[in-house]
Amino acid sequence: MGRAVRRSATAVAAALAALLPVASVAAQRPASSGVPPSTVAESRVIGTSVQGRQIVAHRVGSGRLRVVVIGVIHGDEDAGLAITDLLQRAAPPAGVELWIVPTMNPDGTALGIRGNANRVDLNRNFPYKWAAMGEPGYWQYAGPSRASEPETVAMTAFLRGLKPALGIWYHQDLFMISPGTGLDGRIRAHYARATGLPLKRITGGTYTGVAATWQRSTIRGGLAFVVELGPTLSPADAAVHAAAVLDTAAFLRDARS
Ligand SMILES: [Zn+2]
Repeated sequence: MGRAVRRSATAVAAALAALLPVASVAAQRPASSGVPPSTVAESRVIGTSVQGRQIVAHRVGSGRLRVVVIGVIHGDEDAGLAITDLLQRAAPPAGVELWIVPTMNPDGTALGIRGNANRVDLNRNFPYKWAAMGEPGYWQYAGPSRASEPETVAMTAFLRGLKPALGIWYHQDLFMISPGTGLDGRIRAHYARATGLPLKRITGGTYTGVAATWQRSTIRGGLAFVVELGPTLSPADAAVHAAAVLDTAAFLRDARS
């Protein structure tokens, strides 16, 4: 759901400027562009899409607490890219290692479609409680089998190796976060408070093969939740979300120590 939100260079620059007062962003700004420099310490190609595009993960900061942020899984829900752009110029809190995957569905992002190039809904393809759903052409087509798609294989292998304490997955455009229980619930509530997104349940629908659910159930001690952004995301809102990621990571770090 949600139409693609296209970014412009000006919008990104404005969002970066808006982020500066609320998050610790690398200090030295080039006088010419007004855009803070990248703080990426390492970039890793974690896999290749159906059409041969690279799936890339960027690391900023280092520490014992690993947090992963996935900007896009549904290719036509790409507002999260404005947030992952900002995070690649941010300095995470002490002890936090942030891994940023702008899109785990680069074909869908390039083509402006929900699924991958095989028209598989990757958020129904993960190997936890996978179930056949639809046929090619159906908007939630789950693929021919669990983890049938190279993008799913890349992401599951990456997360199994990384064992992040938290995953944040961006979608559109329901403008909400589902509540949780225990530490998971506190983390979600913290992020919701920081961004003004309401905490409410998605009603109806059957959800199988969902990435965040796979992460929670497979990565030991790992938390993961979905952020449903609205139909559009202003540069100022993107900055609020980027700051909320850093703040929520610090909250989790403190809750665990
Ligand atoms: Zn979605």
